[in-house]
Amino acid sequence: MEFWELFGGKGKTFDINGEVVNPDEETQIEPVEETQVEQKETESPLYRPITFNDYIGQEKSKEILKAFITGTKKYKTPFPHTIIYGNAGCGKTTLARIIANEVGVKMIELLAQDINVEEFLSSISEVNGGIIFLDEVHRMKRDTVEQLYSLMEDFMWNGSPIIPFTLIGATTEIGEIIKTRKPFYDRHKIIIELEDYTEEDMYKIIDKYIDRTYPDELKVEARLYCIAENSRFTPRKAIRLADYLYYSDGTMANVLKNNNIIEKGYTTKDLKVLDYLNKIGKPIGIDCLALYLDIPTVTFNYEVEPYLIKTGCISRTARGRIITSVGINVLKSLKKAKGV
Ligand code: ADP
Repeated sequence: MEFWELFGGKGKTFDINGEVVNPDEETQIEPVEETQVEQKETESPLYRPITFNDYIGQEKSKEILKAFITGTKKYKTPFPHTIIYGNAGCGKTTLARIIANEVGVKMIELLAQDINVEEFLSSISEVNGGIIFLDEVHRMKRDTVEQLYSLMEDFMWNGSPIIPFTLIGATTEIGEIIKTRKPFYDRHKIIIELEDYTEEDMYKIIDKYIDRTYPDELKVEARLYCIAENSRFTPRKAIRLADYLYYSDGTMANVLKNNNIIEKGYTTKDLKVLDYLNKIGKPIGIDCLALYLDIPTVTFNYEVEPYLIKTGCISRTARGRIITSVGINVLKSLKKAKGV
């Protein structure tokens, strides 16, 4: 279990402040007062951005969303159906919660692979004009997807009108949706691609997170840089390292060691992959690489590969993954740091 899951998780009903609400309570759409948001935020034991100001980076996406939020309020229509895509832990759920907060509606978070149309319909009445957030939307069952078409487009079910709602789908696999679920993809008006964070963004995210979560603890700038540098440009990983730091003995060397990080966010798994690709010297399929690491292919896809691709250590070819000259240099440096 991750720290923030202690305070709510997928499949729960959240109010506009990200607080878990009692599903039996009557739903009401009430606009959110700025002060109300501020108050709730300071009460929360773990900090999570709830306004665009607190959400670091992603300027282009924020601009698009703000424009649609203004339009939604002006024309009093539901917020348009939206897809948010980007790597795991890069802020998709947080952004959806911010949209709900800014529009002033309730949001329910569901795992797409688990839902059927009956659950979807009951969530629609529960959010009462609000947002249904479907995580990992590329995994939704095909028959459920097909049943959503007229719900999404006409707000109709079996010939009867339903309460208009907003679907926000999050995915790491946008290509998969376009390839296999094009009509579903086409029913979303807004497509948000989360961009890669910079090291400076990561520093700001960590700085703010520590300020809000551990206000009484000593904050050392060098440790913040170290976390940013080792976060693989992923907010969730950065936050995990920060929590680890404050819950453990407070030395970064131990935090890195216990998270199997060698340097610059590269882990012992990355070292193993690069070493293997270098020794073999020809393209290797991902199933084979995952097997070699003794991890599921999906973990390789989400946890290992994106950073190696982003930093240019490996490249994708039709016949599999291959190490690059950058990768060979990183491999040398990792071996040196590890003394192997
Ligand atoms: P995803 O849904 O893409 O897996 P989350 O929205 O759950 O990612 O984000 C993981 C963590 O990182 C959350 O605790 C969130 O507060 C933090 N986070 C993500 N993006 C940002 C951002 N742009 N600014 C500040 N914090 C962020």
